[in-house]
Amino acid sequence: MTTTTALRPSSAHSCHHHPSCPGAAAPDRDAALVLVAHPEQGWSLLCNGIVLFDDTGELLPDGRAIAPHRPTDQAAA
Ligand SMILES: [Zn+2]
Repeated sequence: MTTTTALRPSSAHSCHHHPSCPGAAAPDRDAALVLVAHPEQGWSLLCNGIVLFDDTGELLPDGRAIAPHRPTDQAAA
């Protein structure tokens, strides 16, 4: 994928709305608002600077990658 230009330092995160989103280091960090969604490319940019992939993998604002951590291939009942 191409590099986004919207990434910001995690230390400088502040929301312009209330309630504020969880920070990039918070346990519920992927509950932040989606700023930019690219479902055709399989990723979304969250308000706290995280890039969330549709396989639940994440790319943190500081460059760390989080492996997919939730099942996405559950069979339909
Ligand atoms: Zn926010």
